[in-house]
Amino acid sequence: MKENQQSHHESLLQTCAWCNQRLSADEDTYGFGAKSNPTLELRDSEGEFVTLRLSLTEKTIIALVAPEESPARDAGFDLLFLTCSEECAQDLKDALDLERDVFSD
Ligand SMILES: [Zn+2]
Repeated sequence: MKENQQSHHESLLQTCAWCNQRLSADEDTYGFGAKSNPTLELRDSEGEFVTLRLSLTEKTIIALVAPEESPARDAGFDLLFLTCSEECAQDLKDALDLERDVFSD
């Protein structure tokens, strides 16, 4: 059971949150954190991947819910995104800025 969860976890870690392109191990990846809107119920998903529907851009993105006592939490983030390029990271950030019912400042 635990091994299955691990491999699922790793396959999602290798997918760009924005363009869904596979991330290759020998290329740089770009990750950043975000703060979810308090109305999102993420407490049960700490340390797990969740899919978030962005209604304005009609995209579904993958985010890791930051585990408690992780550096991301310390920095005030509860969602982490991993992208294949700086462009994807920027496009994703721009999209998140528009989704006020999903994310807060
Ligand atoms: Zn990408």
